[in-house]
Order: sequence, then C-alpha cells, then structure tokens
Amino acid sequence: MNKIDYLRVSLIDRCNFRCQYCMPEDAQLTYVLPQDLLSDQELLTLLREVFIPLGWRKFRLTGGEPLLRPGVVNLVREIASWPETEDLAMTSNGFLLSQMAEDLYQAGLHRLNISLDSLQKDNFDKIIGHGSQTRWNRVWEGIQTAFKVGFDPLKLNVVVIPGVNDGEILDLAALTIEKNWHVRFIEFMPIGNQQLFGDRTFIPSGLLRQQIRAQWGLMESTVKGAGPAEVFKIPGSRGTLGFISQMSECFCDRCNRMRLSADGWLRPCLLNESGQLDLKTDLRNGVSLEQLREKVRQVLILKPEINFQERESGTDTGIYTRTMSQIGG
Ligand code: SAM
Ligand code: SF4
Repeated sequence: MNKIDYLRVSLIDRCNFRCQYCMPEDAQLTYVLPQDLLSDQELLTLLREVFIPLGWRKFRLTGGEPLLRPGVVNLVREIASWPETEDLAMTSNGFLLSQMAEDLYQAGLHRLNISLDSLQKDNFDKIIGHGSQTRWNRVWEGIQTAFKVGFDPLKLNVVVIPGVNDGEILDLAALTIEKNWHVRFIEFMPIGNQQLFGDRTFIPSGLLRQQIRAQWGLMESTVKGAGPAEVFKIPGSRGTLGFISQMSECFCDRCNRMRLSADGWLRPCLLNESGQLDLKTDLRNGVSLEQLREKVRQVLILKPEINFQERESGTDTGIYTRTMSQIGG
C-alpha cells in the first residue's frame, strides 16, 4: 500500500486569473466566505497537530492562487521551520512572483510549479480570460525572477487543450533544452465547466511524446517531486519533460496525496467525494486533537478503496462539477 504522506493545502479559493478550464468568467462560482476560511492558526494547528503526527511530511501550497493569501510568506516560514517538514512546494500562476519570489525563497520555499499554458500572448489571453498581454509578461517575469532567486526544481505546468495550445508543444518542450527548467504537460480534465471546450477532449500524453520524440528523441529521466508524472528528457537538454496522464492512464493505485481545502475540508480523492471530513467545523466545535487524528486515521485506512470507488462501481460519469480552484488543485 502507498504511504500517504503528501498533502495539498489550498490557502484560498480565489484567483486573480480566470482560466477557462478552471474559473471561467461566466461561471457562477461561489466563494468561501472570509469567516469560513481556515485562519492561519487553525491551518497551522491542523498541519502540526493532526497531519504531522500521522506521518505527513510533504506539503504543497496551492489554491485558487496561493499568493493572494494575506500572510502567505509567514505561513511558508512557519511550515518550513518544522523539523518534520521534508518537502514544501507551491503551485502558482506566477503573476505576483516577480515581487514575492525572493521573500518566499528566504522564508524556506525552494520548489515551485508555475502554470504557463502558452508562449503566445494571444493564446494565453484565450486561456486566462479577460486577458491583457501584460499578464503574460508579468508571468514570464515571475518565472525569470524565480529562476534567478534559485528555485530548484522550477517546474512549468502546461494544461494541454486541444485546438488551443496543442500547436505549441514543441516550443514549450524546447524551453528545457537551454535552461534547467522542467516542463510538465497535464492532460486536460473535464472538471468544472464542461461546456467550455465543447467536444474537445484531452490529448493523451503518448501522442505528445511521439511528437517530441520525432523532433529530438526522448530518454527517461527523473526530477525531484515528480509525483504521478512520467519524466523524460530531450537528449543533451538541461531540464526535463513530465507527463501527467490522469485521463489516459489511471494512476489511482500510486496516489499518495490528499487535499485540504481553504475552508478546512479534507478530501481523500480529487474525483470522488467519499470520505470527506469537515475538519474546520470540528476544530471550532472543540473536538479534541486526538479525536481529529482518529477521524483522519480512519480516512487514511479507507483511501485505497475511495480512490477506486466511482471508477470501479461505474458511477463515475467523467463529469466533475467542482473546479480545481474550489477543490484545491
Ligand atoms: N493558481 C495556481 C495555478 O494555476 O498554478 C494553483 C491552483 S491551480 C487549480 C493548480 C493546477 O491545476 C494548475 O497547474 C492548473 O493548470 C491545474 N488545473 C486546473 N484546472 C484543470 C483542469 N480542468 N484540467 C487539468 N488541470 C487543471
Ligand atoms: Fe486561477 Fe490557477 Fe485556476 Fe487558473 S488554474 S483560474 S490561475 S486557480
């Protein structure tokens, strides 16, 4: 059985972008009310007193856009200072990084994934919505700053959307030739707004690899914190290419992660609502830390079953109504 020691922690469900596949502009999204967000103290208590004693050692801060959370640098400093923390990483859209990368690094965050779905500004606008080209420039500047500051590995996440950015695979892959950057192609998931891209479905990672192999060749490789990604590299390149194929290849059997939403729900599986726990309400109602640990321990025991529940029972319709920003992507 997999050791479950990786928690994705959503710091906030709001975002300063409106990616069409995540928080489309015309979607009626409901946000967590400020009083329902886990406070810094509640969040730190849950991590330190509930998750760490149960064996969690790896944390990824995400959202929404985690850099919008007030006090994010202090949260990073605190989590990074615990001797039990083996790995602390963040996924960000990069927009605020040029001004925050240095402080985050000094506070103890050394691994970053930055979303960059396109190198073409007009394509980027199509994807992030209410676009202005300055947004792409800011993200690019954020990536350069993070690289200079020393984030390593620096990963760039690309959600591949058929008919939108699939013509850019080789250009994006080429970023890894000169620089020690790690580009990860993620299969587009029908999560959140399904009408959005009409009948367009995901492009299997295998097809992307074929395209890249035909251009430069491809060899197996590794990178820290690869998670479910299959990692390759272009021979002679400095960086790597990761492929996350949650649609074409089920990796539920290897899943070692759970998610904590910004309003304190523990979610054992991205695609399945079974086994969720409302830790914030319990904490506020005075449930003891020992009882909370026991509840989470029970979810840990059930997780392997939960991972496969809907897929195997046939109740998985392939349509998931909550967005990644709401779940804590
Ligand atoms: N705002 C940050 C960002 O965009 O990097 C962090 C949160 S975002 C929800 C985390 C990751 O989920 C991003 O890499 C994003 O591209 C990915 N994501 C969101 N919706 C997705 C979808 N429908 N299919 C695949 N990946 C998705
Ligand atoms: Fe915001 Fe990230 Fe979702 Fe894009 S993918 S809307 S940047 S949370």
